[in-house]
Amino acid sequence: MDITYFDYAATTPVRDEAIAALTGELAQFGNPSSRYEYGRQAAARLKANRETVAKALGCTPAEVFFTSCGTEGDNWAIRRGVEPGRRKGRHIITTAIEHSAVLETCRDLAAQGYEITYLKPDRQGHISAEDLKAALRPDTVLVSMMLVNNETGALLPVKECVRAVKAFDRNILFHCDAVQGFLKVPFTMASLGADMVAVSGHKIGAPKGIGALYIKRGVKLRPLLTGGGQEEGLRSGTEATGQIAAFAAACAAVCADKDRLERTAAIRDYTLTRLKESLPKLEVVSGGETAPHICAVTLPSYKSEVVVRLLGDRGVCISSGSACHKGKPSHVFAAMNLPKAWLDGMLRISFSPDTTTQQADILVSALAEAAASLFTTLS
Ligand code: PLP
Repeated sequence: MDITYFDYAATTPVRDEAIAALTGELAQFGNPSSRYEYGRQAAARLKANRETVAKALGCTPAEVFFTSCGTEGDNWAIRRGVEPGRRKGRHIITTAIEHSAVLETCRDLAAQGYEITYLKPDRQGHISAEDLKAALRPDTVLVSMMLVNNETGALLPVKECVRAVKAFDRNILFHCDAVQGFLKVPFTMASLGADMVAVSGHKIGAPKGIGALYIKRGVKLRPLLTGGGQEEGLRSGTEATGQIAAFAAACAAVCADKDRLERTAAIRDYTLTRLKESLPKLEVVSGGETAPHICAVTLPSYKSEVVVRLLGDRGVCISSGSACHKGKPSHVFAAMNLPKAWLDGMLRISFSPDTTTQQADILVSALAEAAASLFTTLS
């Protein structure tokens, strides 16, 4: 069966450049900590790969710490990020629409006595910087806010919120989960201003199992993993040199594709226009400032799990995925206060810069056919 893939927010195909870098690195097995030639060569390649990732992030190599995934970066930043302010207080601010890597970590800290404020989104999934300002308290120690929401594509006002937080109290640490924003919307570590930023390789064409946490120079964060003292003593564990090489290669290849954001926006716009023509009942949920690669739509009153399955049977991959978990609407859509009929029919379509109009046409016909067959069954 031919596969037509529209789930790039879930994961991306591993790029050829990343596979070549991975296999090349795997053929050279030296441990970067070893003091002989194999080790020295591995350490030199690791250094070069760190420089490449730092360039993509827009920071210095000394601020890049390799992790196993975005989830690890979020856990590290939040669990350790509350520590410096421990004497001052136990209040954390985050949003109701964060990924579970952040929400579950906050929930765990709540069980340890932290108080969490969850900022609520509007009906398009946007968070207001004014709400953040109003939530700041003298005992606030950490703010964790994602850059791009993984279900709606909403772009959060991180820059503005960092400024507001630092103006209120510069000792409050600001963590940003940029897993869905990295190389998908224009930003650098300097322009964002956050103290910690988590990113993940498998969203940008690297294999699963590699990510990075940016820690701003001067920010003191204790390690989450202790042991052999790799990564300047901050993230122990023998470096995953193959995954890191693949991550760096993917970063370089994506950065070299200069008009990728425009191409992604164009194919998203084309797809939405065609969907609205063919499915007059379809409502576009995402709106306002969004990243171009993610869009939430709904077919009100349809069951999204059934629609996703019918499309899957035709080889078309979209997600209700995070949208619907065990029959319940996702926490993101639930927080957006949408009508029940909209929640039932919620679908997430996500794009790559190389998604073609032919693929979009296949999606549109498959969705129109699925909706027609379900309508017949239901009526
Ligand atoms: N944060 C966001 C916004 C995500 O979308 C994801 C993954 O989907 C993660 C964190 C977790 O990243 P990883 O899969 O690398 O652990």
